[in-house]
Amino acid sequence: MLKVVVTGGAGFIGSAVCRHLVKDKACEVLNLDKLTYAGVPESLKEIEDSPLYRFEKADVCDKTAVAAIFADYQPDAVMHLAAESHVDRSIDGPATFIETNIVGTYTMLECARDYWNGLSEGKKERFRFHHISTDEVYGSLGDDGLFEETTPYDPRSPYSASKASSDHLVKAWFHTYGLPVVITNCSNNYGPYHFPEKLIPLVILNALDEKPLPIYGKGDNIRDWLYVEDHAKALVAVVASGELGETYNVGGRNERTNLEVVETICSILDELRPRTEGSYKDLITFVADRPGHDARYAIDATKLETELGWKAQENFDTGIRRTIQWYLDNDWWWRPIREGRYSGERLGKA
Ligand code: NAD
Repeated sequence: MLKVVVTGGAGFIGSAVCRHLVKDKACEVLNLDKLTYAGVPESLKEIEDSPLYRFEKADVCDKTAVAAIFADYQPDAVMHLAAESHVDRSIDGPATFIETNIVGTYTMLECARDYWNGLSEGKKERFRFHHISTDEVYGSLGDDGLFEETTPYDPRSPYSASKASSDHLVKAWFHTYGLPVVITNCSNNYGPYHFPEKLIPLVILNALDEKPLPIYGKGDNIRDWLYVEDHAKALVAVVASGELGETYNVGGRNERTNLEVVETICSILDELRPRTEGSYKDLITFVADRPGHDARYAIDATKLETELGWKAQENFDTGIRRTIQWYLDNDWWWRPIREGRYSGERLGKA
């Protein structure tokens, strides 16, 4: 059975990838995660006792630790998701974004290169380094057009600039050293186990707590939303069958303004968990816009759809309902986070 190292597997998307691979019995998985504030080991509860799953607490910037894990585990592929991922935090304090997203990816590439160079021919041929990235590297769109794989990079926040840098490093390691890499750039994800600082869980949980629902500016920024399990399936398709050196955009063709997203959540909550008086929409509060706030992101996923046969299964209207129901049913997961390290006072990213 194949073995995959997933970095950042205690995070939102990484945990979905680990659950998907282990529950499908697709391969053995080693989750390499530093457990920063965003790492939630409880997100792996469903698979933590599986013989196919193993956890190692390590920092992707720690070359000695990563090299030792590779030498011991002998992976067939690395799916590199570990990152600092919250745009607002990158504006307040970019240093950890530079360290984890750029230096961490460089360290992972060097460890992967050393490890790959030492593999036997058959295993060397099979090895893949998959870098998981964001559509935010492409900058901001006007009213028309979609991000394609050939769209020039134009990152505008410290977060997107750090992810763009890491993408460039990965491409350089392919062209310079021949490391077998694939890259994916995905739009905004949503779904179960999403850390409560991000827009969608923040709005759901603030609404349930009768707290203000903050929206940047006029709420007219547009994001292209993808259900996290669709993203996990796309990543597995790309690491298994993507062409070496290639980039694949991942998106669900579900563009919504932030205001539409928040109003949809309020309407569904009004139905599922009515307030004693009024609508949850009464809690919406417009706040000063984020500096450098990108106007619109939208992905053209044609390459992934036509070449690898992946297609998003969940549209936003069904996916958001499933997500809200999950938060209503799983306060064991989010309540300790809301009451401990993250209270919901910060704004949500979108
Ligand atoms: P997340 O913030 O939920 O999780 C990040 C995980 O990485 C956490 O478990 C954290 O503990 C771990 N981590 C952070 N620094 C580390 C380090 N130095 N060493 C080891 N582990 C470390 O992030 P996410 O939303 O799941 O995003 C995962 C990846 O997908 C990121 O690379 C992100 O850029 C990319 N991405 C995210 C989205 C999105 O909408 N969330 C969209 C496109 C791409």
